[in-house]
Amino acid sequence: YLAKEGRTGVELYQADKDRNSPERLNLLGDLRRGLDNHELKLHYQPKVSLADGTVHGVEALLRWRHPVHGAIAPSEFIPLAEQSYLMRQLTEYVINEALEQAARWWRAGLPVQISVNISARDLLDSALPEQLEAGLARLQLPPSAIQLEVTERILTGQQAYTHDTIKALAALGVPLALDDFGTGYSSLIRLQRLAVSEVKIDASFVRRIAESEDDNRIVRSIVDLVRSLGLRSVAEGVESDAVALRLAEMGCDLGQGWLFGRPMPAQDATAWLRDRHMTSPEATYDLHPEVT
Ligand code: C2E
Ligand code: MG
Ligand code: MG
Ligand code: MG
Repeated sequence: YLAKEGRTGVELYQADKDRNSPERLNLLGDLRRGLDNHELKLHYQPKVSLADGTVHGVEALLRWRHPVHGAIAPSEFIPLAEQSYLMRQLTEYVINEALEQAARWWRAGLPVQISVNISARDLLDSALPEQLEAGLARLQLPPSAIQLEVTERILTGQQAYTHDTIKALAALGVPLALDDFGTGYSSLIRLQRLAVSEVKIDASFVRRIAESEDDNRIVRSIVDLVRSLGLRSVAEGVESDAVALRLAEMGCDLGQGWLFGRPMPAQDATAWLRDRHMTSPEATYDLHPEVT
């Protein structure tokens, strides 16, 4: 293993990039064990309205504390899992954890939508809509209690196969968000055909809109495009008031980033949510009585 000291003193771990290296295979084995041992936990980051600050949902982001190597970033272990049979199990775990948390929040009078990241390959799995449907029914949650985030990569290749899963999700009423928008090669027509309800503008464009006229124009045109399609726009990586202000002026709907809140463990997120005004994903949803 190549362990190195991070600037914060937290041990960062870099898996060897070689696909079949012993390090990589070891880490994959560790990940499988880590999943069984609940070493992986979801943290939750708020998405807020840029116009009035109300909370419109949270994104679930996976955190792994390795017993020996410490914190390992999703950018390290997600690509690893994506190349293996483990991805399916990982996504299943994440969806179940998110559904359980949504049920806890909805029962506590915090009807918040949880967005879950799935990988493009998860859409090849026809069992995904069934898992969601069963989980929502078991926990007595409306389909809008959850949202799936997929990157633009779903627009490249294997479209015929993913199409059925996307159709099944739409029939179920589970919303779909397009993540990291601007980094891929989506055309307007493809975007419209995809039946997404939310477009998340990648942080790499958002970050510099207060200084760069070019980035400002790019984000403005994405916001306009998204609005013209009747979809919701979300800016990722909002770190400053200046950026939030510009986004609000453009008419961008929601913002997500350190300015509003970092990804937090469920308990901290509960406290954070309690202090805020929320906009329910389904205001008319009839809450079921307390169940334990
Ligand atoms: P993403 O879905 O685009 O998530 C946004 C990333 O931006 C997160 O990184 C989040 O912590 C980070 N972020 C949020 N606000 C700010 C900010 O103001 N400034 C900066 N610099 N960063 C900010 P994270 O948690 O490291 O996740 C990275 C990526 O890993 C995610 O990108 C997503 O693609 C993937 N990922 C995370 N959790 C899961 C999961 O449960 N399943 C799958 N399939 N992928 C996941
Ligand atoms: Mg995401
Ligand atoms: Mg993103
Ligand atoms: Mg990303």
